[in-house]
Amino acid sequence: MNPEVFNVIQIEGLGDETEEYRNLTGNIVNGACEIIERHSISYDFGRLENRIASLKIVRRDGVGHEWSPDENTLYVSKCNQDGRLYSDEEMIIFATHELMHFVSEPDGHDEFGDKYFGFNEFFTEYLSFLVVSKIGGINLESYYKHNSKGYFGDGRDFDFMKKLTDRISIGQLLDVYLGRKIDEVESVVGADALEAMNSYYDYNYRLYEAMGVPLKRFNEIMANPLFAPQRQIVDSYINTINSSI
Ligand SMILES: [Zn+2]
Repeated sequence: MNPEVFNVIQIEGLGDETEEYRNLTGNIVNGACEIIERHSISYDFGRLENRIASLKIVRRDGVGHEWSPDENTLYVSKCNQDGRLYSDEEMIIFATHELMHFVSEPDGHDEFGDKYFGFNEFFTEYLSFLVVSKIGGINLESYYKHNSKGYFGDGRDFDFMKKLTDRISIGQLLDVYLGRKIDEVESVVGADALEAMNSYYDYNYRLYEAMGVPLKRFNEIMANPLFAPQRQIVDSYINTINSSI
């Protein structure tokens, strides 16, 4: 990847941290590219380079980080819904997750992401863990395992994705994920696991969204006995995922 390409990224609202975010973006994207190259995945690096040249990074506080494919924009938030500033580690981890969506974005409509949204999010998150461990070494890896703990922050999706990568090589998973191979993903991951990942994602995300609180608080609320019925439903999806991978 030509390093110059990162210099033309448009960055808004990050003041004197602008260059820091530019460098971080470069490290994250290059970290992902190294993983892709190491596993000899067929991937169009030229197209990625073109897309980096028109990438925008915009600060938008108080709502989640978000990758917007239509605007080719990464929205970053410096603080959570309660106004608490995120730690530097959290910022790197969130930015990595959204940039993995950028790296895996296909040309045109993302049918794969629509159909297998659960796997898409959980694999995006697992790949983010691999990338942050690569660029941030043992410190960031340890921070991730103790604090971030996967997409939903309770370690459970991290664990089942880890289990999946014990059974299926990361190269094979990267290949279906980056190639958006809608016809192959079922034979690689398994239809039951994919369906249960969708159900788990959908159900848990709806609860999280309805509560409108930061993820850590959401997990605390879910641990309350009042939410035992919901927890039971969540557990059943997790059990299905675990028994099908
Ligand atoms: Zn995501």
